[in-house]
Amino acid sequence: MTEAAALPERLREHLLALCAIPSPSRAERSVVDHVAAACRALGASVREDDAGQRVGGDAGNLIAELPGGRPERVLLNAHVDTVPLVPGVPLEPVAEAADDSAGEGVIVRCRDPQVLGSDDKAGVAIVLELMRRAAATPVGDRPTLLAVFTVGEERGLQGAQHLDVAALRADLGFVFDGEVGVGEVIGAAVYKQALTLRVLGRRAHAALEPERGVHALLAAAAVVQAFPLGRDGDVVANLGRVEGGSASNVVPDEVMLTGEARAFDQRALEALLERIERVAHEAVRPLGASVEFASERLYDGYDLGDDATPFAWLRAAAPAHGIELRKVRSIGGSDTNVFNQRGIPTVNVGIGMHDIHSVDEWIDVRDLARACGWVGDALGLG
Ligand SMILES: [Zn+2]
Repeated sequence: MTEAAALPERLREHLLALCAIPSPSRAERSVVDHVAAACRALGASVREDDAGQRVGGDAGNLIAELPGGRPERVLLNAHVDTVPLVPGVPLEPVAEAADDSAGEGVIVRCRDPQVLGSDDKAGVAIVLELMRRAAATPVGDRPTLLAVFTVGEERGLQGAQHLDVAALRADLGFVFDGEVGVGEVIGAAVYKQALTLRVLGRRAHAALEPERGVHALLAAAAVVQAFPLGRDGDVVANLGRVEGGSASNVVPDEVMLTGEARAFDQRALEALLERIERVAHEAVRPLGASVEFASERLYDGYDLGDDATPFAWLRAAAPAHGIELRKVRSIGGSDTNVFNQRGIPTVNVGIGMHDIHSVDEWIDVRDLARACGWVGDALGLG
């Protein structure tokens, strides 16, 4: 079999093996061990950091380094954790022929209604394959590759947040966690802020003296009514959780609303936060209640120029693969946000994941092979 023909088969086998290992966030031990063994077998030096201990997980981020003779140090990243599995349903990934006229495609999905976890085991499979290809390339002809397998991505990028990114001394990076199609490369993503609105009223007996009370739940409803829920141009905000009150015979004195806000532009996000705080105060004032607004930056956004090095490398290799590179934006966050925030120009490469975070999740191995072959050429691997 030719080298090119063997690629989809190797990716399929990597993917089936990886997806069969359960690894919800904070329980990544088995899959980290599996990936570490695969990297050691390729001659990479492998270490694990202490991110697991810091976030209450059983494994840290894995860093595998394969030195090269070219001057560039290139970060390759995928996250090893998945969203939680459906309890009581077996995790059995299967490969089957794609339902298409050519009959050449291979789809990987779960046999039962279970989360496949190709988000992001498909990315892990690609990074392992790129490491294999680099290991087969003469040392002098390859850049130094830093394969970073992060934990806890699905819980707010926790693994990447605790990674010593500066110690990698990487010049540029490629993340393989793009829910978009092959050829689409995420070069911009949002800033994200966590919000809490603590609505305060006055407690009173609900039957004996309700007039003395200030109803915090009613005030919270007014806040929700005034809140800019949903999308407004390039910004989006949500309230997703309500907590408060006590007994049915008590006028509630406190309700906590929890939400988030996202924007591609930092100033637009700050303007949105100011607006939320202002409309909340205005909404509760006529009711005699008050509101304490707090917010916290979860991660920074990024927007790489078209001439950023990862784009230049990908663009140069695209025609040979019949690919036209398209820079796209993502309203979601990924570890890419953290790498860019810490100074490594990094793009998130689309690998054609479908229906992620659901039991309908599937992926076409041909898409993995296209993305993998393209990026391998962009890295100048033999
Ligand atoms: Zn992901």
